[in-house]
Amino acid sequence: MKFELAKAVGAAATWALAKVAHRPAANFPGKAGLVVDPDLIAHLKPRVSEGTIVVVGTNGKTTVTNLLADVLEAYGKTVACNRTGANLDSGVASALLHARTADWGVFESDELWLAKIMPQLQPDFVILLNLFRDQLDRAGEIDHVQQRIAEALASSPGTVLVYNADDPFCQAIADHSANKCKPFGISEDLGLLQNKVADSGLCQACDAELDYAWHQYGQLGSYRCPRCGFARTEPMYRARGVRIDRQGISFGVLRHGTTVGHLESPLAGAYMTYNLLATCAAADCCNIPFEYVERAIHAFAPDNGRLQAYHVGGHDVLLNLAKNPVGLNQNLRIVADAPGPKAAAFFINDKEADGHDVSWLWDVDFEELATVDDLVVFAGGIRRNDLQVRLKYAGIDAELVDGARDLARKAACAKPDAGLFLIANYTALPDVKAELDEMARDEKAFEPKASDAGHAAVRTCTHEVGIPTCNQVVSPASQTLPHAKLTIVHLYPELLNLYGDGGNVAVLATRAHRRAIDVEVVRATRGEPVDFSQADIVFLGGGPDREQRAASRSLLDQATALQDYVEGGGVLLAICGGFQILGRTWLLGNETVPGLGILDIETKRAKGGSHNRLVGNVALESPLAKAPVVGYENHAGRTFLGDGCEPFGRIIDGRGEGNNGRDGFDGARYRNAVATYLHGPLLAKNPEIADWLIEKALARRAVENGSPAPALSALDDRAERAANAFMCAKLGVRAR
Ligand code: GLN
Repeated sequence: MKFELAKAVGAAATWALAKVAHRPAANFPGKAGLVVDPDLIAHLKPRVSEGTIVVVGTNGKTTVTNLLADVLEAYGKTVACNRTGANLDSGVASALLHARTADWGVFESDELWLAKIMPQLQPDFVILLNLFRDQLDRAGEIDHVQQRIAEALASSPGTVLVYNADDPFCQAIADHSANKCKPFGISEDLGLLQNKVADSGLCQACDAELDYAWHQYGQLGSYRCPRCGFARTEPMYRARGVRIDRQGISFGVLRHGTTVGHLESPLAGAYMTYNLLATCAAADCCNIPFEYVERAIHAFAPDNGRLQAYHVGGHDVLLNLAKNPVGLNQNLRIVADAPGPKAAAFFINDKEADGHDVSWLWDVDFEELATVDDLVVFAGGIRRNDLQVRLKYAGIDAELVDGARDLARKAACAKPDAGLFLIANYTALPDVKAELDEMARDEKAFEPKASDAGHAAVRTCTHEVGIPTCNQVVSPASQTLPHAKLTIVHLYPELLNLYGDGGNVAVLATRAHRRAIDVEVVRATRGEPVDFSQADIVFLGGGPDREQRAASRSLLDQATALQDYVEGGGVLLAICGGFQILGRTWLLGNETVPGLGILDIETKRAKGGSHNRLVGNVALESPLAKAPVVGYENHAGRTFLGDGCEPFGRIIDGRGEGNNGRDGFDGARYRNAVATYLHGPLLAKNPEIADWLIEKALARRAVENGSPAPALSALDDRAERAANAFMCAKLGVRAR
């Protein structure tokens, strides 16, 4: 009865959306149907007669889902598929409702929703592509995502797990799973340039540092734990002889060492090698002959905004989705490698589906673009102010942009024959794509006129690209600070780096540098002894529990030296996990981890452990700044201050949780040590705090040298202030 009613509700919803609202029905029919019949997916499953595949993973799942559906269709099968990326249970139910009957079901699933979908769907195969940091406000930390996927697999024991063995996160899931597993991987070093931040350098079993024979990108590669033997399983499906160049990607596919076929694809980006290999592996598991895989991959012309090509206003245009550091880093390579003059625009929103926190922009190596010739860069999307600040500290003056049309106009001014690259995150993508679709249609309809208009735009444009004075020191500083030098010690950047906090070091270094102060940044990794007597500013970022515990334990050896440094007036900034470590003890689940005992604080966990998190944007009033201090918190720890320190600030937005969700305060101050829960990173949007730290560090050196305390010259902080004001407005707090 329920099922019949759910089908009727789904059909009515589909009809209403199509006929009345003229919208595709990718989610709503399934959502409505699931309300009536919570087991709707299980009840609809018999519509699929031959088999079902679920594709899951942080990056590439829409592409692989579409590729697999194309392969099956090329092979003559009918397919039920949520092609547009509606990947919650409602999207899967909607696809099944629309299908009526199909030979195969191919469904993309969100990582956290897999545990809802799998018990009902009991798919034949799950394709696990990769796990990277993404939407951390929803996921918390990556081990939570791993746990959820493991639970999902346990609920469907007959499912075969086809997984990326190059990813230690996926390997750990396979190691703990009772399901049958078929690993795939790239069995040679692609020789790619490495990025600054990678997830999971630690062994998934024992926390020792992994040894890599080679590293592709992110944490992907060939790894082994020297201590406990946790390692990449030799893949059943391998890519060999991989060639990646401007023509595309080609490689041989092997099953158990025997060649299955050779693939040539015009698709761009090293990461696409993994998507193609995953498709080949999955298709082979379904007994589809390689020629159909080849055919479908050749014909693959995505029109869903993933690597979609256009020609508009005389420009070659490439649109792509990127929603996390690894994905965006891969896109930067595509931009950098493209020949000729070019313009790149990034569109970053912060809606529910994007994640409300944009700190991750600081884990992206935008610095790589600063040295690319003949390139102009634009910042768009709801959080374009944050993006502009990020780009500014990467050495790039980016003009704000209002969408694809605005970009085409501004890019034509700057570089008339430029190739355009539009990179957008989740909710930013549809608007950008809609504009491009419309522009491409107009172009077809009015070809000669449209190009005339393009040239007119070039002639009439008068303004320059970029914020002209963004990077300049407003008042000359070199006279005020002769021979000044700052040494910034960044403690354990390889472990405590999950939320873009390393950006604080970049902000400190850049702001000092712009005032003609020499800066040295010392990256001190785990186990390395640090000479704190040489340090002017010490920085500790936040991190996931596993890495935080490893950092905390290792730092115990240096606790006394760091304590002496702080007691002697040394400047220190600690964020979130780094803040917790400074206390006497901190709790990880039921485990009490000894801290460094530098601050009079104690950190506990609430019921629910690491999943019970305090998450969201925060505004503070702090004695260290005139403007509200804004940032983003995401922590499970609840910290309580003793009498020995003051809070860093008082929460003024009415919703922020701060130290413990109870007393209305965030962070701690003790001598010249500042600690806070705020990511963002903190200093990018709160330059007054950055300058307070620099000033204190310089003053300490001046006392030592017997010279007068130097005054810092003002910098042009319009971009930083705009990002701060945006958040103040969002939180309903008065900006300064
Ligand atoms: N792992 C710590 C917690 O959850 C710190 C997280 C962070 O640095 N954001 O409390």
